Amino acid sequence: MKILVVNAGSSSLKYQLFDMDKNTVIAKGLCEKIGIGGAITHKRPGKADYHEDIELKDHDDAIALVLKLLTDPELGVISSVDEIDAVGHRVAHGGKLKASMIVTDEVLHYLESIVGINPLHGPPAIKGINACKKVMPGKPMVTVFDTSFHSTMPEKSYIYALPYEYYEKYQVRRYGFHGTSHRYVAREAAKFVGKPMEELKIITCHCGNGSSFTAVKNGKVIDTSMGFTPQEGLPMGTRCGSIDPTIVTYLMKQEGLTPDQMDDVLNKKSGLLGVSGVSSDMREVWAAADAGNERAKLALDILIQDAKKIIGSYIAEMGGIDVLLFTAGIGENDRAFRAGVCKDMEYLGIKIDEAYNASCPRGENVELTAPGAKVRTLVIPTDEELMIATDTLNLIK
Ligand code: ADP
Repeated sequence: MKILVVNAGSSSLKYQLFDMDKNTVIAKGLCEKIGIGGAITHKRPGKADYHEDIELKDHDDAIALVLKLLTDPELGVISSVDEIDAVGHRVAHGGKLKASMIVTDEVLHYLESIVGINPLHGPPAIKGINACKKVMPGKPMVTVFDTSFHSTMPEKSYIYALPYEYYEKYQVRRYGFHGTSHRYVAREAAKFVGKPMEELKIITCHCGNGSSFTAVKNGKVIDTSMGFTPQEGLPMGTRCGSIDPTIVTYLMKQEGLTPDQMDDVLNKKSGLLGVSGVSSDMREVWAAADAGNERAKLALDILIQDAKKIIGSYIAEMGGIDVLLFTAGIGENDRAFRAGVCKDMEYLGIKIDEAYNASCPRGENVELTAPGAKVRTLVIPTDEELMIATDTLNLIK
């Protein structure tokens, strides 16, 4: 069985082709600058990467090029598109759709109807699905939503204390994102500690360019830090995370900003970049802090403190914690961040082996728990694409 996983963004399209019988990725790559130029980087294990600057007018062009490379006599890994059994699509927002599902006209119409609450990611995801439908007619397609793992949240976790009519009229509520990642790492963590997820209280800390934490109690999400959009929660690369909402209207008045300009400030000019003034990239912020830049240090201090706050609140909500886990770019790689977050948490049962945290291998599941600590602290590399491929396989079976 071969499954193609497609993750379409506004000007990019990532792909991975899985051989599910061997549990391996046989090719993957990235189309960039769609609609504003175009380029593709195509990778196969054990072979040199292939890069080409080539005009990509739209997502149709991108998918056509991906299939051309996958079946190319020299650069390809399959002899014909027929060898692809199904396509799994990452879709950030599923709205009321609570699980991965086969793409039908009805599903597509529903996704089109909710682009208003998902303006950045909705349209490109739909374009990616339509592009695949065009070149692979009749091929089974599955959508996997970032929001669906969070659909088990109780009302008290997803209703905001706004006039209730805004929830009814506009579906303003917490949805949560990164769900495919949280689901994958929570399952891996349960396997790692050798207990069913149904018996565990897990906090999954997905820290990357975008960050969200999730409280998974007995296999179900009971709370998550991202909200109506991926803006809420921790400060991120360029997003501010949770702030006093009145700051928004205050700044709009003070600076004469339009809603779009304000959105830009909140989404593209804030977070690590906004506070440090240096970069949205954690490595560059650390480098500046190490060189004595006080604002870079402040940005890191804010991020680490907010991470602690959310972890503490989830322990309180779940009535305890068995597993704390870190994943994604920062969670998997940034040892100083993990050490900072876990510092002075002994009273909650969290203590990591600091020497091992500073030297443990990257790219594999590792346990950081100090001897005698009650809470198991893990690093689990995320693999959203594998989760999407697995869901796709299960649904087409
Ligand atoms: P995205 O949310 O775009 O998928 P990633 O999960 O790839 O992002 O995370 C990107 C973040 O991870 C960046 O801030 C980057 O600096 C950080 N990161 C990656 N490698 C390291 C590292 N070795 N040390 C510290 N931070 C790292």
